[in-house]
Amino acid sequence: MAEIVRFAPSPTGNIHIGNARTALINWLVAVKSGGEFILRYDDTDAERSRQEYADGIAVDLDWLGIKPHRVEKQSARMASYDEVAQKLKDMGRLYPCYETADELDRKRKRQRARGLPPVYDRAALNLTDEQKTAFEAEGRKPHWRFLLDQETVSWVDGVRGEQSIECDSVSDPVLIRGDGTYLYTLPSVIDDIDMGVTMVIRGDDHVTNTAVQIQLFQLLAGKVPNFAHHNLLTSATGEGLSKRLGSLSLQSMRQDGYEALAVAIFAVIIGTSEPVQPLADMQALADLFALDKVSRNASKFDMADLGPLNARLLHEKSFDEVSTRLEADKVGGDEAFWLAIRGNIEKLGDAKEWWNIVEQGLPADAVSKSDDDADFYATAKSLLPAEPWDNTTWKVWTTAVKGETGRKGKGLFMPLRVALTGRGHGPELAAFLPILGYQRTLDRLS
Ligand code: GLU
Repeated sequence: MAEIVRFAPSPTGNIHIGNARTALINWLVAVKSGGEFILRYDDTDAERSRQEYADGIAVDLDWLGIKPHRVEKQSARMASYDEVAQKLKDMGRLYPCYETADELDRKRKRQRARGLPPVYDRAALNLTDEQKTAFEAEGRKPHWRFLLDQETVSWVDGVRGEQSIECDSVSDPVLIRGDGTYLYTLPSVIDDIDMGVTMVIRGDDHVTNTAVQIQLFQLLAGKVPNFAHHNLLTSATGEGLSKRLGSLSLQSMRQDGYEALAVAIFAVIIGTSEPVQPLADMQALADLFALDKVSRNASKFDMADLGPLNARLLHEKSFDEVSTRLEADKVGGDEAFWLAIRGNIEKLGDAKEWWNIVEQGLPADAVSKSDDDADFYATAKSLLPAEPWDNTTWKVWTTAVKGETGRKGKGLFMPLRVALTGRGHGPELAAFLPILGYQRTLDRLS
């Protein structure tokens, strides 16, 4: 069935890898089912929502390869929310309450002291019109609670399986604050109904909201979408992710030069039964992914694992796939250069360093040649084959040097590597030597 899904971020900060996980899972379900992905900004909180964050989220999603079929924002839909809220008031399902935060707090403390769950006691339902008028004369503004049906709400969750929540242990939720603004609960349901959402996929921090929202769906639409609540990611030290964790933001990963696909694979596959692995493209990720592979427990992940995955993806990339980006980075190397160095970089930006080593000479922090090797270098230089060079030149040359000096293995290769690249590790020299060419090689041996 073609699923209509939505990703509904609040534009109150940059999105991080955990938010990307929600967005991507929604996207994969849409792609796999031939459905539709709605990007919906939950921006009813005017104080904290910012256009620049909304723009940033659009850029991040685009970079990941998510192309929304439709973009909506809640701030443009207030009239619909007001209309439905009025309907709920008329039905007696939305009722005004006047308790201050302090009063509610004291109520909860008393309940706990008596060993009762801290569920709202519905005292406001018994207020007379005179009492309400008196509160308003004092300057109190009502907040509005949804009168829950005290039933058991059950659903089959796409990730978590059979779920049920006893609504008599849930407080009637506040849907409208004292200042008249909406909490996310009601607008979200109204949007999901109006936009024809068939599956709500989000983090499992929303499981309790689901009972309330299912009651709202039943009341307002007479039917309920499917739900799937994926597990949340925590940092390597077990902390929840927050928008304040700058290093985990998509923006910083993009700026650090990670491959979008590596980030996408990482965000989706961590916390599932599949191992993190390089994949060809988003379609391959969609083929591999299924909601029932998502774990029900929070998953720790380590940003340090992204580098190796990124490297493995790059190692399989053809020159054609990267040439435009290399050019933009002012890396002038051709296909032979790319094939020689791709196994030695973690991020595409690292190619520049190898290109500089070819073009500009040894890096500032080059490993230095040992004085003890002076005779060895002189011999190696005298045996350097004449051009033209190809991938067999290295073998011919080092065989000759070995014969003349009696050196072999590391003692033979390492001083040559150090002289030619300034590094103790790097590309295969058989491939690198023809890129460097005769003259540069000669100079570096001197
Ligand atoms: N704005 C909510 C959030 O970011 C959306 C939750 C939902 O998908 O229903 O958590």
